[in-house]
Amino acid sequence: MYSNGVEESTMVMLERLSGLRRGKVPFKYLGVNITSKRLGVDDCQCLIEKISARIHGLGARKLSYAGRVVLIKSVLSTLHNYWARIFILPKTIISKIEALCRKFLWYGNECKGSPALVSWEQVCQSTKKGGLGLKQLHWWNVAAVAKYVWWLALKTDHLWVRWIHAIYIKNQIWLDYKPGVGVSWAWKKICWVKEIMKPFFMNQGIASYEIKEGYQWLVDAETVKRRHPWISIWLIAHRRLLTMDRLVKMGIIQTNVCYMCGSDAETIDHLFFQCSFNSRCLALMQNWLKIKLPQQDFIMWWVKYRSRSLVVKQVLAMAVASLCYQIWVSRNKCRIEGLVPQPRVLVLKCKSELVMRMRGNTIKSTIGRVHDWLEMICLE
Ligand SMILES: [Zn+2]
Repeated sequence: MYSNGVEESTMVMLERLSGLRRGKVPFKYLGVNITSKRLGVDDCQCLIEKISARIHGLGARKLSYAGRVVLIKSVLSTLHNYWARIFILPKTIISKIEALCRKFLWYGNECKGSPALVSWEQVCQSTKKGGLGLKQLHWWNVAAVAKYVWWLALKTDHLWVRWIHAIYIKNQIWLDYKPGVGVSWAWKKICWVKEIMKPFFMNQGIASYEIKEGYQWLVDAETVKRRHPWISIWLIAHRRLLTMDRLVKMGIIQTNVCYMCGSDAETIDHLFFQCSFNSRCLALMQNWLKIKLPQQDFIMWWVKYRSRSLVVKQVLAMAVASLCYQIWVSRNKCRIEGLVPQPRVLVLKCKSELVMRMRGNTIKSTIGRVHDWLEMICLE
């Protein structure tokens, strides 16, 4: 039994009535310090030690690559199913755990320091996308703690939920609630998770929640956010196509005809500006956005509009960036699978990416006609 701000005489009485013993904070729960203060790196050190002991244990020494994957999955599953559901783990601890697993995955127990062959992020992709299906601990952690956010939204008949509503949220709307100063660290973290997951719950409703769903949404949103606008796509494409040109010259591959239209030579200008496939996509985009898009020379256009602060221009820049990205992805897919996608399908992907980015802050920060325009394109 732990208490805070309860008078001594009351505690004595409670002890006698309940038969429970009184504990002191901080205490250890399965090795981790439980404090009312911030959960620090030192408090979680034992997690690192436990994981390290398991993957460096005797049985792990002779494991094959596949065996190591299984071991890492099982080690991480304790974290996923237990720790990550209770606390938001400190970022330093998460990076240390991931570094341990990464090193073990590639090198086993040998002490080699050379860089990994594939990024951890790639390893954490689903097996469908060419990864090993490991979970990114940080996002899994957020998605797991979001369960509390969901309980609070649902107002489940749970002692903790009732207590939080009575003490903190009172009559406010939970999704709009902002914690005051001086509230506990753990509660602040839950509110922080709530802010991150707010768009998710607003879109999906609160009828049900699975950690897996929340995790997938977080990972997807993160990829969308980090996906570089199209200038980087252009650079990648440029380098890749230059190599193709060289290969053609060396006679290693025969042609470099554009995969998308099948008629012209594939150059960067062709792929992103002149190709008939691209013009069809642009026309669909234009139809949707109700704004004229440039038919050629995106670079100048992009440079000009990207630096402006006007939301409309940002949205247009995002639209073009997303289109270029999708064209480049389809082109690569086409090269391997030989299937040219429908412009409509490709533009739909751009649409959902754009809408995902604009929902939330972008729309809220606008007023008047721009706001109406954004609402319109998000609804269409
Ligand atoms: Zn073409």
